Amino acid sequence: MEFLHANTKSLLDSNLKDGNYISAKGKKVVVIGGGDTGMDCIGTSIRHGCCRIVNLELLSKPLEKRAPGNPWPQWPRVYHVDYGHQEAAAKFGKDPRSYEVLTKQFIGDENGVVKGLEVVRVRWEKDASGKFQFKEIEGSEEIIEADLVLLAMGFLGPESTIADKLGLERDGRSNFKADYGRFATNVEGVFAAGDC
Ligand SMILES: Cc1cc2nc3c(=O)[nH]c(=O)nc-3n(C[C@H](O)[C@H](O)[C@H](O)COP(=O)(O)OP(=O)(O)OC[C@H]3O[C@@H](n4cnc5c(N)ncnc54)[C@H](O)[C@@H]3O)c2cc1C
Repeated sequence: MEFLHANTKSLLDSNLKDGNYISAKGKKVVVIGGGDTGMDCIGTSIRHGCCRIVNLELLSKPLEKRAPGNPWPQWPRVYHVDYGHQEAAAKFGKDPRSYEVLTKQFIGDENGVVKGLEVVRVRWEKDASGKFQFKEIEGSEEIIEADLVLLAMGFLGPESTIADKLGLERDGRSNFKADYGRFATNVEGVFAAGDC
């Protein structure tokens, strides 16, 4: 968000002339996280003129069509190509996404400036309880060169002030706890919808 917000503000204020943004121009960019925010980071980096773009996603590549366990009206968990992916393919000849990759550590130079990332491939498997867990694939470690790394690995819930003051229950992801469709929280007359 530091990258996207500053870029948009500078663009609207000065058409990027004020320089008040993190520029990806000429940089080897790695975006960690393959969601919508990661996609905006890809598109923005390309429009800045990055010299390379890699997008790392921990999960497996989604299916082309809905899986039997993912019927309408659920959100379709399917593969799609968005503007950033298209622009990356047009500029660099391939889609920037790489799936089933776990980042192990940043590699810095003597001044602590990022030079690369150590990553490892993973495989998703069901454990004894039927829950999917990933396992690192031995020997698949590699170093990816980078001089700008953008973290787009998901957002946690809203700030806690309102929840604390009103005594709102939270769910396991720190969002306000409310049933979809009813939107009622544990506090009489208080409802929650949307990202929160
Ligand atoms: C970078 C990025 C890219 C995204 N791309 C996509 C996409 O391509 N497709 C998609 O479907 N979704 C996308 N999303 C997700 C989408 O933006 C959210 O799911 C959606 O905006 C949630 O809507 P909302 O109304 O719940 O919350 P928000 O849109 O976050 O609105 C909350 C509003 O409340 C205001 N607010 C906060 N605290 C207070 C307060 N105390 N008093 C008054 N106002 C307050 C905030 O300023 C904000 O305006 C993206 C999100 C991000 C961050």
